[in-house]
Amino acid sequence: MEVSRRIVLAQRPSGAVDEKNVRLEEMPVPEPGPNQALGRVRFLSIDPTIRTWMNDAPGYLPPIGVGEVIRSSGIAEVISSNSDRYKVGDMLFGMTGWQDHVLIGGDAPDMQPLPPGVPPTLALSVFGVTGLTAYFGLIEIGRIKAGDTVVVSGAAGATGSVVGQIARIKGASTVVGIAGTAEKCAWLVDELGFDAAINYKLDNVPARLRETCPDGIDLYFDNVGGAILDACLGRLAKHGRVVLCGAISGYNDPAGPAPVKNYGNLIVRRGRMEGFIILDHLDQAARAQGEMVDWIAEGRIKHAEQVVDGLEHALDALTMLFTGGNTGKVIVRL
Ligand code: NDP
Repeated sequence: MEVSRRIVLAQRPSGAVDEKNVRLEEMPVPEPGPNQALGRVRFLSIDPTIRTWMNDAPGYLPPIGVGEVIRSSGIAEVISSNSDRYKVGDMLFGMTGWQDHVLIGGDAPDMQPLPPGVPPTLALSVFGVTGLTAYFGLIEIGRIKAGDTVVVSGAAGATGSVVGQIARIKGASTVVGIAGTAEKCAWLVDELGFDAAINYKLDNVPARLRETCPDGIDLYFDNVGGAILDACLGRLAKHGRVVLCGAISGYNDPAGPAPVKNYGNLIVRRGRMEGFIILDHLDQAARAQGEMVDWIAEGRIKHAEQVVDGLEHALDALTMLFTGGNTGKVIVRL
């Protein structure tokens, strides 16, 4: 009997997630029911938000239940089908979960075909939800305009690295990235064309923001929250905009990210701070991808994917996001 593996939430983490929080289980490969297909999961998208879904707290999606498969998006290949909609060999994107096999359609969720010609790793990174997060966050929420001084945190990560490059394409006068190692900072400036990078683990962030953004920050794209958000709020230009995309600095802390003190600067600078969830913008994905595909083909958006092999290493891949071990998008290949 062929066995299918899955990773479930064994116990809710109270800080950083580790092996005791998850459990690898084996079960028979499921059989697709009427109007249903069976997919072999090929790739998992590893996202910081998976950590937030492990908390028993209200969020934009319900928490993962204890004993349930870890929720995750990914790509599956159809390997058997009782459905007219899905054919054997189709590569599909959707909520696969951390498991070898996924049931698709019928009484299970549907999945979407990959855009033609797009390799799976790209479909999970710059051409997928990550790229769309950068695009809609910067353009719709941040309302970027030519001449803006743009700062992005988590700058060498999947979302941040794309944010800085779209900012450049949209005519930003200055693009500054904040990241956690010298190598990442060098990559941002030397390879991705950022004007400057700040190593938040070594540099004095407020002082470096004063140096690199002498006229203030017009648009800050926040992936991390806490002290870095506070420093950027303190440096806001008149009519500055703060896009709240994520707050990873607080995801492992039950108390959340460090509190911000400089929000009063939003009043003084007539600023605006707005959060968003990419799920609300996915109906506009085709429009964004239409633009992104050209930028990628022209080499104006460079991207990095960090592929980790093996379902059994999915937890290591998630941990990498919190230790800063990744440059670009983290993907698990099964
Ligand atoms: P990344 O690829 O950016 O990985 C996370 C990065 O965060 C790490 O590489 C690390 O880099 C940095 N980091 C980790 N801990 C800290 C910390 N304490 N302080 C500062 N930086 C830290 O992940 P994603 O691009 O997938 O996600 C980036 C952010 O966007 C996350 O907050 C995520 O939740 C959010 N997000 C929001 C969406 C939405 O719809 N609003 C959709 C998708 C993502 P370093 O070495 O620089 O520390």
